[in-house]
Amino acid sequence: MSYQGTHVAINLNNLKSNLNYLKENLEPSTKIMCVVKAFAYGSDPLIIGKFLEKNNVDYLAVAYTNEGVKLRSSGIKLPILILHPQINDFDEILEYNLEPNIYSFRILERFLSKSKKHPFHLKFNTGLNRLGFKIDDVDLLNNILGSGNNIKYLFSHLGASDDIKEKAFTMGQIKLFDTISKKMNNKFNKVFNKHLLNTSGVLNYHDYQYDMVRTGIGLYGYGNDDDYNKKLKPVLTLNSVISQIHNVQKNESVGYNRGFIAEKDYKIGIIPIGHADGISRTLGNGKIGFKINNQIAKTVGNICMDMLMVDITNIKCKEGDMVSIIDEKNQTAEEIGNISGTISYEILTALSSRMKRIIIQN
Ligand SMILES: *Cc1c(COP(=O)(O)O)cnc(C)c1O
Repeated sequence: MSYQGTHVAINLNNLKSNLNYLKENLEPSTKIMCVVKAFAYGSDPLIIGKFLEKNNVDYLAVAYTNEGVKLRSSGIKLPILILHPQINDFDEILEYNLEPNIYSFRILERFLSKSKKHPFHLKFNTGLNRLGFKIDDVDLLNNILGSGNNIKYLFSHLGASDDIKEKAFTMGQIKLFDTISKKMNNKFNKVFNKHLLNTSGVLNYHDYQYDMVRTGIGLYGYGNDDDYNKKLKPVLTLNSVISQIHNVQKNESVGYNRGFIAEKDYKIGIIPIGHADGISRTLGNGKIGFKINNQIAKTVGNICMDMLMVDITNIKCKEGDMVSIIDEKNQTAEEIGNISGTISYEILTALSSRMKRIIIQN
C-alpha cells in the first residue's frame, strides 16, 4: 500500500469470504440481512452496501434513519430495515422507501398516522429488555392492525447468543419467540415471516434461522469466539505513517499536560491519528504499541485528538514509514479490544469516518 497517510483499507475479498462462510451455516432458502449500521462497523456503508448488493444479499439494516437515507441516496435498491426509528422519522422513511422496526404502541400510532400500507417489521421483546412488544400485546396489536397485511416480518433479538454459558437463557428467548409467532399467526390468521439470529446466533443456533438472519460483526471478520475468528477474515486494517521524528532530551516532556517526562534521551515518532479517530485516550502512556518495520513502538504521553506519539528510540525507521495500527492477524480489533477492556464492536465502530478509506480487491 503506497498511500502515505492514515487510511482504513477495506478488503472486499475478505468480506466475500466471510459472507460465504456465514452462508455455509444457512439453508439456501434463508435470506441474509447485512447490518451496515455505524458506518458499516467502521468500514464505510456505501462501499460495503454496494458490494453486498452486487453479491445478491437480500436486505440491509441500519440503526437510524439518516443512515438509511444515505444508503438509498447513493443508489442502493435493496430493502433497508431501520432498527431504531424515532417518532419524527416517518416522512423520511416513506420518502426514501425504508422499512421501520415498529417496537412500541407510541411508534406504531405515529407510523400509522402516516401510512396504513407501508411495510414494516414488528419487533418483540423476548428477554433482552431493550426494544419490542410483549406477548401480551398481541391482542391489542391485532385490534389496531386488522389484517396485518403491512407486517412484513416478525422479529426479536438475542441477548447472549455469543455466550454458550447462557444457552438456557437463549433457548428461552427462542421458545418465547416461537410462542409469540404462533399467537400472532393464530390471531391474524396467516403465517408471518420472521427473523431472529445475529452473527453469533447464525454460528451457534443455526437451527433457528427462520426466514432470514441479520448478520453484522461476522461479515466484518469477527465471530466473538477464537475458533470462529480463525474462519473469518478481518475486512478492515488501519495504517498510518510517521509524520515527524523528534529527538527528545533527558528531562524534556512530550505532549499535553507533560504526560511523559523523558528520564533519558528518546526518539519520538508523531503519528497522524488520535482519539477523534477512535484510538482511545486510555491507550496512551505505553498501554499499546503499533508496528513499524516489524517492531513494536509503544505510545508515549497522552493521546491527542488528532495525533499520537510513539517511542522509536530503538526502532530503525524514518519519516514517511508506515505504522500498522489495526492488523489482520497480529493486532486485530479483537486484540485491541482486549487491551482496552472492550469488544471488537466498539473498536471498529469508533473509527472516525474522516479517515480515508481505500478498497482492496483482486
Ligand atoms: C446490531 C444488530 C445486529 C447485528 O449483530 P451482530 O452481532 O453484529 O451480528 C442484529 N440485530 C440487531 C437488532 C442489531 O441491533
